[in-house]
Amino acid sequence: MQGFVLGIRKVKEEDILVTVITESKVKTMYRFYGARHSSINLGYKIDFASEPIQNRSLLRLRDVTHLGYGWLRDRNKLLAWQSFCLLLYEHLKEVNEHGGFYFEMLECAAEKMEKASAKRVLLESYLDTLKTEGRFHAPDECFFCGGEIGEKEKIALARGFLPAHEKCIFQPGFSANKLKDFFDNGNTMAMEDGEIEALYSVMLLGF
Ligand SMILES: [Zn+2]
Repeated sequence: MQGFVLGIRKVKEEDILVTVITESKVKTMYRFYGARHSSINLGYKIDFASEPIQNRSLLRLRDVTHLGYGWLRDRNKLLAWQSFCLLLYEHLKEVNEHGGFYFEMLECAAEKMEKASAKRVLLESYLDTLKTEGRFHAPDECFFCGGEIGEKEKIALARGFLPAHEKCIFQPGFSANKLKDFFDNGNTMAMEDGEIEALYSVMLLGF
């Protein structure tokens, strides 16, 4: 079976709980400490097997092989990717089965990471996720006061890219034209690097 490592938690001594997202499931498995085990890294795609542990409802993780992407050696890309995986872990931690979207989204993003800017790829994936979950809000109404956001006004964004007036959430806004281009077309081409950094900070607040 294959999946992406979304979370790793130490349990006792060197044992760990590993959460992996596969094509249709989010599985948390127990890994006993073993000096001969290869280490498991957050965000990596792995091939693995699982088996029941006697007298416990948990599964044991075994036969792990890391599947490589060339960009994993790029520290900045890896760190951005790992932050995104942690956001997804928080978002999906109560989920056991999913319809397939999240795995496909990660695979698609991982493919793009090789050539494109990591933050842009992840922002586009984040937006795609909000839209797929039906949680995307068009930036014409402020979620905070319920008032209209004027055509030419800057648009501030809260967690989950919820649109607001700058004055309502005390955050500097984004240029309406460029933000709408991103929201409509799903790509960040119109946004400059400084704006990407600002969008990325909003994304890190969570899904
Ligand atoms: Zn407002």
